[in-house]
Amino acid sequence: MFEDINITPSLKNTLQNALDNSRLSHALILEGSDEATRLKTAKAIAMHLLCKGNKRPCGVCSSCIKVIGSSHPDLHILTKDEKSAMIKVDTVRDIKAKATVLPNDGDKSVFIITEAQLMNVQAQNALLKIFEEPSRHVSFILTCPSKSSLLETITSRATAYTLGEEISTFSDEKYSEAKQTAAELLECFISENELQFIKKTAVFRKDKSYFLLTLKAALPIIRDALVLASGGRVPISDKQETAKKLKSAMTQKKLMELLEVTEKIIENTENAANHNLSITRLSAVFYSIKQKG
Ligand SMILES: [Zn+2]
Repeated sequence: MFEDINITPSLKNTLQNALDNSRLSHALILEGSDEATRLKTAKAIAMHLLCKGNKRPCGVCSSCIKVIGSSHPDLHILTKDEKSAMIKVDTVRDIKAKATVLPNDGDKSVFIITEAQLMNVQAQNALLKIFEEPSRHVSFILTCPSKSSLLETITSRATAYTLGEEISTFSDEKYSEAKQTAAELLECFISENELQFIKKTAVFRKDKSYFLLTLKAALPIIRDALVLASGGRVPISDKQETAKKLKSAMTQKKLMELLEVTEKIIENTENAANHNLSITRLSAVFYSIKQKG
């Protein structure tokens, strides 16, 4: 789930390992990088914590889909008060009330406090009281540009992760290009026959890394289509037109299959010496899903 987030590979590993071994602190601070990346990372962690699939986060179970669509009953995302541009003590009292009741859906409630530096001192002290009596079924993720803007009493009770200090493994320009290719490929898939699709994938024959990057760029678009199909509205990709077309052309079940096979092909391609078989497989499995009744 961290694949389309611009944080360092080593941090992805650290987070993934902590999550897989249930060693993640019940209070996290995500600092650094930009606001959107901080929120994306927080949501990816929440998705892992709430996922009901085997390989967490599976990205396709009902919990994951609800997290992506921001409609999960046990995921609470708190932001600043529109008028005062502050996070006030009332907001934190509301968190306290929600944190004392058991989760609705699973065994955890996750609270993301975005831009936690906007909490005034009163609000931070109220949050501290919740931190002092940790509950096993509650996790907190605070995002902020720098943890130094929070009270030390808060930071000393949380584990902080710094996002995006190193340079990402691929350039933004290359990823934009891959996103465009992914959108074109998906649109071709919807409207054209298999032969046209195969012609379009010929560009990947000599470039395994670009093939992988394009598949990775396709994932958020397919997820968006799924979110749209399930009535959600919060987009994670910037190819909304393609996501809409995909949603109109495929059932929710088929979109889910599409997502699963794409993830599978990425995994196989990463481990394969020769990726040309994966390219052939891509069109074969995509079109078999499309043609199913
Ligand atoms: Zn899941």
